[in-house]
Amino acid sequence: MSTKRNNPETLALHGGGYRSDPATNSVAVPIYRTTAYQFKNTEQAANLFALKEFGNIYTRIMNPTNDVLEKRIASLEGGLACLTVSSGQTASTYSILNVAQAGDNIISSTDLYGGTVSLFTHSLKKVGIEVRYADPSDPKNFEKLIDSKTRAFYAETIPNPYLRIFPIQEVADIGKKYSIPLIIDNTLAPTICRPIEHGAAVVVYSLTKYMSGHGTIVAGCIVDGGNFDWTADPKRQPLFNEPDYSYGGAIWGQAVPVLTGANVTFAVRARLTLLRDMGAALSPDNAFAVIQGIETVALRMKQHCQNAEKVVEFLSNHSAIAKVIYPTLYDKNLADRAKKYLKGGNGACIGIELKKGLEAGKNFIDSLKMFYHVANIGDARSLAIHPATTTHSQLTPEEQLKSGVTPGYIRLSIGIEHIDDIIEDLDQALNKSNKGNLKAVS
Ligand code: PLP
Repeated sequence: MSTKRNNPETLALHGGGYRSDPATNSVAVPIYRTTAYQFKNTEQAANLFALKEFGNIYTRIMNPTNDVLEKRIASLEGGLACLTVSSGQTASTYSILNVAQAGDNIISSTDLYGGTVSLFTHSLKKVGIEVRYADPSDPKNFEKLIDSKTRAFYAETIPNPYLRIFPIQEVADIGKKYSIPLIIDNTLAPTICRPIEHGAAVVVYSLTKYMSGHGTIVAGCIVDGGNFDWTADPKRQPLFNEPDYSYGGAIWGQAVPVLTGANVTFAVRARLTLLRDMGAALSPDNAFAVIQGIETVALRMKQHCQNAEKVVEFLSNHSAIAKVIYPTLYDKNLADRAKKYLKGGNGACIGIELKKGLEAGKNFIDSLKMFYHVANIGDARSLAIHPATTTHSQLTPEEQLKSGVTPGYIRLSIGIEHIDDIIEDLDQALNKSNKGNLKAVS
C-alpha cells in the first residue's frame, strides 16, 4: 500500500505493500526461519543465479521476512529499495565499499559517530580507501577536496555529539555537478527527516536505535534513493560502469535498470556482491523485531522530541550546567538548518557540559536513578553516558575534541517516559553532582 500523503504514521504500519502472508494469510509478518528455498526445477535455479528472474535463493542474500522490512523502510524513506544488514556499522561499511575501492577516496563530514570515525580513519585506510574530512559549517568545503578519485560524500543528519544539522541539499547539489552521490546516516532522525527528498542518493541507518526503538537488537540498512544516475560519468563511478567478473562480467549501472525496470542499482549491487561475499546478513528473527518496532516509530519520535524540548528548557535554566547542546540552540544559520531539515521535532539527543567538569559528570551519571547508564541511544527508555570514557575512548584526545567530546560532556538520549519523571531524575542527579548545593533556577 502507498499513501498519497506519505504520512510516516501510516507507512510505518502499511508501507511497502505487505497486507498478509501469501502462504497463510497471516497479518503479522511471519519469521521465515529457513536457510534455503526449494527451486522449482533446474531451469528456474539457473535463471535465478543468472538474474534472468528474481526469487529467493539463500537467506544470506534474501529472506521473505527481511523483504517486508526492506520494502517498508524504502517506503518510509521515499526510496526505491533497501537492503537490511546485521548492524549499523555494516550499513556504513557496505555503503562505502559499494562505491569505492583501493586507491579511491570519499569526503566525509567531520561530525560523525565515533564508530564511524574509527571505521573511516583506520579500517578503510587499511583497505586503501582514503577518507577526507570536510567541515560541514560551509558546504563548499566538500567541493574543495574533490579529485578524480572521489566516489562519494558522507554525513549524518543529526551528528552527535555536536548535534549540528547537516546541510543535506547544499552538499547533494555540489555532488550532482560531479556525479558524486551523498550518503546520509539518518539514524537519529527517522520520520522527522527524509534525506532522499533533499537530494541524498543513499540513506543508511543503525536500526538498533529509534527505528527498532526498544534496545533489543542490533541491525542496519542501506536505502537506495533511486534518484542518482550511476552511469552519467562512467569514470567517476567505475564500480557501476566496468564489467564485474565476479558476476559474469555484469555492468551494474546498465544491467540493473534493464533487469528490474527501476534504478535500484546501488541496492542490488550491494546485495549481490557485498552481502554475498562478506555475509553480514540480518537474521529474520531480528528483521521481525525491527518490523514490530517500526510500527510505532512515528509515534515514539513525536514523544521523544516533545520530551527533549522540555528537558532542554529545564537544563538551560539549571545552575549546575555550563552549556546545553541541541540542534536549535546554535546560531541562526544552524537553527535555520534545523527548521529546514527537521519536521515534527528536533531529535531527542541532548549534550550537556557540567560547570564542575569531569568529577561532576561522573557524580551525575552515578546518581541517576531512572536513566540507564548505557552505550546506546534511541531506546524508549531514557539513557545517559559519558562519551570521553566510553563510546569515544578509542579516539585520541585530539580526535575526541575534533568530534565534540570534551572531558565533561554528557550525552542524554531522552526516552518516552512521563516528562515529570524524566526531569525529576535529572534534577536530583544534577544536584548531587555538585554535592547537593545547586538548585534549578526555574
Ligand atoms: N550510526 C550512528 C549515528 C550511530 O549512533 C551508531 C551506533 O551508535 C551506528 C551508526 C552504528 O550502529 P550499530 O551499533 O547498529 O552498528
